[in-house]
Amino acid sequence: MLSKRLETLTPSYTLEISSKIRQLKDLNLDVIDLSIGEPNFNVPVRAKLYGIESLNNNYTRYDAVTGIKPLKEEICKKLLKENNCTYCPEDIVVSSGAKHCLTNTLLALTNPNDEVLIPIPYWVSYPEIVKIVNAIPVFIHTSKDNSFKIKAEDLSRCISKNTKALILNNPNNPTGSIYTKNELEEIVEICYKNNIYILADEIYEKICYKDNFTSIASISNLAKDITITINGFSKSTNMTGLRLGYTASNSSIAKAISSIQGHSVSHPCITSQYIAYGALKECNSDINQFVNEYKLRRKLICTKLDSINDISYIKPYGAFYVFIDISKLKNTLSYNGSFSLEFCSKFLDTYNVAVVPGIAFGLDDYIRISFACDESVFLEGVDRLDKFINSFS
Ligand code: PLP
Repeated sequence: MLSKRLETLTPSYTLEISSKIRQLKDLNLDVIDLSIGEPNFNVPVRAKLYGIESLNNNYTRYDAVTGIKPLKEEICKKLLKENNCTYCPEDIVVSSGAKHCLTNTLLALTNPNDEVLIPIPYWVSYPEIVKIVNAIPVFIHTSKDNSFKIKAEDLSRCISKNTKALILNNPNNPTGSIYTKNELEEIVEICYKNNIYILADEIYEKICYKDNFTSIASISNLAKDITITINGFSKSTNMTGLRLGYTASNSSIAKAISSIQGHSVSHPCITSQYIAYGALKECNSDINQFVNEYKLRRKLICTKLDSINDISYIKPYGAFYVFIDISKLKNTLSYNGSFSLEFCSKFLDTYNVAVVPGIAFGLDDYIRISFACDESVFLEGVDRLDKFINSFS
């Protein structure tokens, strides 16, 4: 009796891992969790104070569907200053997290059976959200040689008369790869020519180990017109549980997104919106500190991984993950179905370390580990990975 759309959904590998971790922890086992996509830092105090003050002022009632005015104004200032994009508050819709922004945007843009292009490897929820809105995910194959970034020819090959949008995650989860300005220009040119919208998920833009990050909407006015930039406060200001994100787009798309949001959730939590406002106004120095810490961790984890035989990895230039190629170990492990799933499941069972199988991102020869945790935790986890791999021979 349930909706047919549920039949198409893939079970969440990450939720499966979390439930297994809980079971092991209940047995008092010393579990190392490197599967997490959540910073281990807290929300900066100065941001929290804005939330507390808003509660004390009883700002707890219904407000504008697209977000509170001061937050939208601050987002526009940020987009101009940091991303070189001019938007007005009418172009912004604040929602309950980047995931919610993506769902709203796809609902606003797609008709049933429209195709949405998704480069592999992808963030786990993209294909599922596309299916939920009754559109069709079409995967773009990329190559390791190009750090899994799409090239013009990869993109062109996948376009059909039904293609409606491309989801571009930059910096990328799981690879940490970042597109150059030239690469983005090529993507814009093809999308513009073929009437394809670009859903630019830039949630990791602040966690960037390169000097300059380019927002695709800043490439040109044409780029800005076809791009819906999606961003949020989960990764930069650690507000994962406060659920806040936003879209920046042309005002007619913003209006469409607003209609959908108005009839589904009205607007995101007012307190979270004030905290996000505080984060934008006052917390850039906190963010710099988090990023400096990630930089140190990245160096440490990469050095440690360099010393392990039979694996290689994509050097991350953004986000807080390392995507590790385990294909050389394929012959040493017996498995039915997914190799990466078997690898991760054995690793968790024998060494109590949780990592995410590459199959969750569409590439079965890989695993993803996160360094959004304490140094002692990921160093111990990588030590155990070394021991696990050595145990094969
Ligand atoms: N986009 C990417 C690429 C992510 O990795 C995540 C979370 O892991 C999200 C979006 C979801 O962010 P939010 O917590 O704002 O919904």
